[in-house]
Amino acid sequence: MYKIDLKLFELELWFRRLFGQKYLVNLNPKSKEIHRIYGKNRCKFLPSITHKKYVGINGMKEILDDKPGGYNGCYLCLREFDMDKRTMDKK
Ligand SMILES: [Zn+2]
Repeated sequence: MYKIDLKLFELELWFRRLFGQKYLVNLNPKSKEIHRIYGKNRCKFLPSITHKKYVGINGMKEILDDKPGGYNGCYLCLREFDMDKRTMDKK
């Protein structure tokens, strides 16, 4: 990603946070992960996600799903909502 795009992206994240949309949902059907866009645990994968939407805490909890193929917290930045971890525990 070019430097200018990264700056625009930072600006977008800043605006989203301002409106309480603190989470980025990766809509790619192969991923379906939710990432944190703020704080020191902010996800480093954010700039590489192309197919996305932003949600607040309630929207994020609504789409979380522990069924296979459901939306899931990122292992790195949103571990408290990582359903895969739970699925792995069951195995
Ligand atoms: Zn993440």
